[in-house]
Amino acid sequence: MDNITALGGEVYEIDTRMAGYSGITAGYLILGDRPCLVETGTATSAPVVRDALASLGVGPGDLATIVVTHIHLDHAGGVGDLAGFYPGAEIVVHEKGARHLADPSRLMTSARMVWGDKLDVLFGEMAPTEAARIRALGDTGSVDLGNGRTLSSHYSPGHAKHHVGLIDSGTGDLYVGDAAGVYLPQTGDLRPATPPPDFDLRTALDSIALFEALGPQRLLFSHYGPVDDVQETLERSAEELRVWVDLTRQAHSAGMDLDHAVAMVRERTRERYAALRADDATAEQFELLSGAPSNVAGIIHWLDRAQP
Ligand SMILES: [Zn+2]
Repeated sequence: MDNITALGGEVYEIDTRMAGYSGITAGYLILGDRPCLVETGTATSAPVVRDALASLGVGPGDLATIVVTHIHLDHAGGVGDLAGFYPGAEIVVHEKGARHLADPSRLMTSARMVWGDKLDVLFGEMAPTEAARIRALGDTGSVDLGNGRTLSSHYSPGHAKHHVGLIDSGTGDLYVGDAAGVYLPQTGDLRPATPPPDFDLRTALDSIALFEALGPQRLLFSHYGPVDDVQETLERSAEELRVWVDLTRQAHSAGMDLDHAVAMVRERTRERYAALRADDATAEQFELLSGAPSNVAGIIHWLDRAQP
């Protein structure tokens, strides 16, 4: 299938085709003895993921684990549907997200407040998952991939308070979720993802430092794909955060409202990103998952909490 890329080490990248877009949301299958899916994509992506797994030989009884880096709908929206497709799979998530997978009603209500009518087109509706099938992770945790291979989780808040990074003992791959920002393979751009209501600069930088300390061989971005240059990329993640926070802080202390702050930060960061000078489709992809309005709103929300 043309939405599957073999990455070596029995790892397959699956383009989950969020809202029909290519190349914005990745799920990953670690095949091995106990097949494990990392990230489901949205609810509307669930059939796409199921077809991809089938073509890789993973049938309804074969998937051992579904793990999500955090419960935002572009990462975990498909959990309930996929739990239904794979009745033997254990669902693994940080403890701060677990109850929302069992009962997505509050999550969906707040998502609808943010996205309005676009919610159905972009994400669809997250189905609930039986609570008994959910395993909640603490600060660290482990997923058994079979044959002595494990996927170790590390709590990494900052982007979201229910975020974990996951490192594969077999390959050294680190699944970074959104904690290191959004990477665009077409241009090599990297931009932070700092949405409300959880963004916190200190914990976000601590999580990037934790990722460095884990010594990964490769980073696997949910948006989007593998990156081999680990050290340089994580340093850039931290630098991007500081740039966006500094500019937003300037706009905020100058008394600008959100719209003016967004316009100012967008303008002052524009030259950093080749994607915004590329074709409209590439720029749109980049805007969708780490858009300036969401990033600036998240930073202002944090500034107001941190310095009331
Ligand atoms: Zn995301």
